[in-house]
Amino acid sequence: TIAFLNGEYMPLSEAKISPMDRGFLFGDGIYEVIPTYAGNPVGFKGHTTRMAQGLEAIEITNPYTAEQWQDILSNLVSKNQTFIESGNIGVYFHVSRGTDTKRFHAYPKHIAPTVFGFAFEIAPPQPTSKTDVKPFKVALQQDKRWQRCHIKSTSLLGNVMHYQAGVDAGVNETILYNGDGMITEASSCNVFMVKDGAISTPPLNHELLPGITRAIAIEAFKQAGLVVTETWFSKEDLLNADEVWLTSSSKEVAPVVEVDGHVIGNGEVGDVWEKAIAAYHSYKFKA
Ligand code: PLP
Repeated sequence: TIAFLNGEYMPLSEAKISPMDRGFLFGDGIYEVIPTYAGNPVGFKGHTTRMAQGLEAIEITNPYTAEQWQDILSNLVSKNQTFIESGNIGVYFHVSRGTDTKRFHAYPKHIAPTVFGFAFEIAPPQPTSKTDVKPFKVALQQDKRWQRCHIKSTSLLGNVMHYQAGVDAGVNETILYNGDGMITEASSCNVFMVKDGAISTPPLNHELLPGITRAIAIEAFKQAGLVVTETWFSKEDLLNADEVWLTSSSKEVAPVVEVDGHVIGNGEVGDVWEKAIAAYHSYKFKA
């Protein structure tokens, strides 16, 4: 694997950073994961815009323009093509505040950020038939993370612990609800549900990440004539839904058939999901 570190490309095994990097000491940084298929990125503009907003929110100067990020992405994809033969390549970007001389919570304002990128294999595009797709089962937990979940921070311990709880329960993910019992998102995905043909997903606020796949999916569904609303729903609504889906850059639109041991709908992938994934595939490279 070829990685990018502070302006240079090198084998991943040779990429080294200081233990005094604030990304290591404090999780003080912002990251992105951008999916590409046969060299074509999905949602590049959305991902780089969100990264720019995250960096601004935590007062790190964005080291690169969108065009420069585009070059790094293209280089990482082409340099790793021989290692990742499927051509299903996720590109990871990480900007930490940089390396300090001391460990001190307050951040120095003018140190050079550490910029890291690498490429890894992601799953192939989701099949479009409900008989071919592998459905998810998920756990359900109260969200115990911080109150700035709209920032794609590299401080992911809260997400890691929620995700691990799902793995420990023998399922694939963990859907989260807030103190009012309303669904926010999952530990590494956004959440959609379908009831009586109507698709909904929670509106954006500080309790969830503005997922790029979520945004592309909403637009794709609208263009395909599917009705989708951004509205809060409770964990009871979720358990009584006809269909539940997760969205993320690596999972696209993934159907869920079991939540916290409760069967969703008839326990099979639903008909609306088939329309949704078809709509997503026909729109995703145009976003
Ligand atoms: N929510 C969380 C907490 C995430 O970590 C992610 C992605 O990793 C998402 C949602 C989905 O975001 P995107 O569609 O931009 O990958």
